Formats: sequence, C-alpha cells, structure tokens
Amino acid sequence: MIAPAQSLVIVGSGLAAWTVVKEFRKLDDQTPITLVTQDNGDFYSKPMLSNALSSGKTAAQLVSTTSAAMAGQHGVKLMANTEVTAIDPVARTISTSQGKAAYSRLVLALGADAVRLPLQGDAADRVLSVNDFQDYAAFRERLQGARRVTVIGAGLIGCEFANDLIAAGYEVDVVDPGTQPLGRLLPPEAGDLLQRALSDAGVRFHWGTSVQAVHAHPEGLQLALANGLHLDTDVVLSAVGLRPRTALAKAAGLQTAQGIVVNRQLQTSEQDIYALGDVAEVEGHSLPYVMPLMHAARTLAAHLAGQAASLRYPAMPVVVKTPALPVVVSPPAPGVSGQWQIEARTDDVEARFVGHDGALLGFALTGKATTNKTALQKNLPALLA
Ligand SMILES: Cc1cc2nc3c(=O)[nH]c(=O)nc-3n(C[C@H](O)[C@H](O)[C@H](O)COP(=O)(O)OP(=O)(O)OC[C@H]3O[C@@H](n4cnc5c(N)ncnc54)[C@H](O)[C@@H]3O)c2cc1C
Repeated sequence: MIAPAQSLVIVGSGLAAWTVVKEFRKLDDQTPITLVTQDNGDFYSKPMLSNALSSGKTAAQLVSTTSAAMAGQHGVKLMANTEVTAIDPVARTISTSQGKAAYSRLVLALGADAVRLPLQGDAADRVLSVNDFQDYAAFRERLQGARRVTVIGAGLIGCEFANDLIAAGYEVDVVDPGTQPLGRLLPPEAGDLLQRALSDAGVRFHWGTSVQAVHAHPEGLQLALANGLHLDTDVVLSAVGLRPRTALAKAAGLQTAQGIVVNRQLQTSEQDIYALGDVAEVEGHSLPYVMPLMHAARTLAAHLAGQAASLRYPAMPVVVKTPALPVVVSPPAPGVSGQWQIEARTDDVEARFVGHDGALLGFALTGKATTNKTALQKNLPALLA
C-alpha cells in the first residue's frame, strides 16, 4: 500500500482538489493527506488558459506554485503523474498506475473532459482543445508560424479564445450551428452586441453550420462545413463543451447523472467517498465554474473536519473574459419560468430575467451595464438556499 490506511486521499490537482487541501488544513493539521493526480500537480488558475495568449504567457508562466511547494506548505504526500484506474469502495482502496492505496476517506476532484466531435477527414486528429496547461502548451506550439485559427463553438470558452486570439494578432474564424455568441447564456440583444464587438475586432462568424471534416492541405488545413462551404485555416481549436469525468465513479457503482451525484455534504452514494468541482452534481446543479467549487471546498473541508456543514450556493454571476465587450451573466436556474426584460442601448445591454411575480431570477449585462452587477446580484435568489 502506498498510502497509510487513515489517509484522506484526494484525486486530482485542479482548483477543486487544492482548494479542499487548503481549506482542510486550516481546520486540521494532523490527518495525513495523499494527493494523487495524473498530471504534475502544479497549481495554476485554469481560467487564465483563455486569456493568456495575448499577454504572451507560456504554460510555465501560468503556474503560480509548483506541486512540490504546495505539498510542502500543506503537509501533503504527493503522487504526481499517477493515474487512478479503479476504486474499491468495499476494500476502501484505489488502484493507481503506481500500485494500490488505502483511504479512510476519498475525495474525487476529477474535473471534466473536453467534448470531442466525431469529425471526418485525414487531419481530424489535428483538432485541439485547451482544458489544462499541457493542452495550452501544445496549442501555443501549434500556433508557431500559424496565421489563421478556426474556433469550433461560440460558447463561453470559444468566445474567450476568439477574443484572445484576435488580440494576439491571428485571423480568427468561429463556426457554430447557432445564431449568436453565448447562445445558451445571453438573450439575442446581448448576443448581437457581443457579436458586433468581436466582429469589429476582426472575428469572422459562420452561423448555422458545423465543421464536418478536416483535411490536410498544402498550405495548412481545409475544413468542410455542413453548409457546403470550405474554410482554409492553420489551426483548429474545438470548444464545444465539457463532460464530467464520471467513468471511475460509475465503474465503482457510485450514483452518477450528468456528474457524480453528491448531497449537500458533497458525499456520494458511497459513504466516505466525496466529489466536488467540475465532476460533481449537487441536487441537479452541475456548474463548471470556479465560484461553485470554492463554496463546495469550504463545506467539504468543514464536514471532513467533523463540523456540521451544508452546501449553499448563492447566485454566482460569471464574468466572461471578452475585453472587446465585457459581459457578466447570471443565467436563471434551469427550468424556471419567466421572461427577459431588455434595456438595449447603442453600446450596452442590461437584461433582467424576471419571474411571473416580478422577482429578479437572472441577468445578463454587457458593456458599461456590467457595473450594475453587484447591485443586481444582491437581489437574486440563492441557487441552493
Ligand atoms: C479555458 C477555460 C476557461 C475558463 N474560464 C473560467 C472563468 O473565467 N471563470 C470560471 O468561473 N470558470 C472558468 N473555467 C472553468 C474552471 O476553470 C473550472 O470550473 C475549474 O478549474 C475546474 O476545476 P476542477 O479542479 O474541478 O477540475 P480540473 O482543473 O479539470 O482538475 C481535474 C484534475 O483531476 C485529475 N484527474 C482526472 N482524472 C484522473 C485520474 N483518473 N487519476 C488521477 N488524476 C485524475 C486531472 O489531472 C486534474 O488534475 C474555465 C475553464 C476553461 C477550460
């Protein structure tokens, strides 16, 4: 066994895992912690991946603290470059690429995988996605000598990369089957304004179509679109969504839905196994953002330290990193009914999503209207009260 039986074992080394470590150590400096991660465990802020190119940052420059320094500061036994391949909830062990480890309590902070589209063509395997700093390093390398980049997907991550790439001096095409940027988050008036700002900056949008095939071409790559058109490009970045990494949990018999299902103590269907971050789903909420995992990490740390704790989610607006047009959005909870009330001006939009009783349930702000975020946020209901 490569971890003591009384260990708290944490799998992953993203923001969720390291935040649990930090929060738990504030309450308990005795319990042995083993952190097992398939990457090198360095601490970095993942949101920076989509706005680091224009400031010329390398992957190494995104790392704020090395894994060795993090482990030393927080008294953690680090098992880096170690993949967890199975969980045995009965024996309370995990199997890893370095052997078995026992746990008394296990925390799964496994994150989410970038969704891969089933693309045709002899260069389909050259489509990249950027979901961690190794991906970012590979992306930067592929951009060496490139001029044209095509982004697949005009959601939050696609728009952020499009803005960053155009600011870094590339020619940028964005292909999306929808009709506007951030289609799932913004009402059309706000989406139009964002499209205008990104188009003015030079981004070319291709709406109502999708990439079907990627072919090698003497001067780069050629994309075949579903509308019959072809697009010449050098680098293709796919940003079509994330899927929680539930396979390990499923194979171990834990309850999963969109993510690993946990209760307000972040406890899975197996006693003494917990999950948080992008991989977890709490009462139907699967929220792949930083603020939810911070709340979850504090609650979990308190629970693991023996305190009574129950997760609450306040409203957590998301700041979209599109400097061409600042956007802040707090989408209404899935399934709530109401309607958008829009105040559209030339350079900004203030959109409030209001329930039938007039209560504010969400908002989308662009441009100067983003300064109203704090005032509006105070009036939003909690996501998990
Ligand atoms: C480009 C980009 C921009 C973003 N921008 C924002 C933003 O502006 N604001 C915001 O709120 N959110 C943003 N997000 C989302 C936010 O970054 C994530 O919600 C958060 O970082 C997820 O952290 P995590 O620890 O749950 O997962 P991850 O960071 O994915 O960590 C998962 C960890 O698990 C490890 N792992 C997985 N499987 C195994 C295994 N079998 N064995 C061992 N280890 C394993 C991985 O190596 C990794 O260390 C962005 C995300 C991306 C990709």
